[in-house]
Amino acid sequence: MEAEFGFRPLSVEEARTLLAAASRAAAAAYVPYSSFPVGAAALTSDGAVITGCNIENASYGLTVCAERVAIWSAVAAGHRELRAVAVTAPKATGTTPCGACRQVLHEFAPIEGELVVVLEGPEGPEQVALADLLPRSFGPRDLRAVAEIRLHIP
Ligand SMILES: [Zn+2]
Repeated sequence: MEAEFGFRPLSVEEARTLLAAASRAAAAAYVPYSSFPVGAAALTSDGAVITGCNIENASYGLTVCAERVAIWSAVAAGHRELRAVAVTAPKATGTTPCGACRQVLHEFAPIEGELVVVLEGPEGPEQVALADLLPRSFGPRDLRAVAEIRLHIP
């Protein structure tokens, strides 16, 4: 595990609240092709909760996952660091973010500490570190080694 600064889970109540927000967001999913709604809720490091749902397109490759809709909405609203993201798929308990979303999550992971991914476990919220879902990841810090890149660090 890459958890240099340690894994700091949400409280059970916080995790439940975030998962409930993700669940509500799933109701807005636009999924005429897959009929597989997904909801996501991002908790920013400054305490905002921003949700997203998956949005499909007749040109299938343009479909966007719920997690990325939530993350991009958070970034568009001025947030640059995520504390946690909850994901839920009403038709498949325990669904985890796809590989593309794991990479996008990594971009906005906390500078110190782990990004917490909240999943729907069989007995309530299950919390895992993003580093466990995306081991030996490539990210902003790697590029920083070769150039002065303007990261999300203020
Ligand atoms: Zn995804």
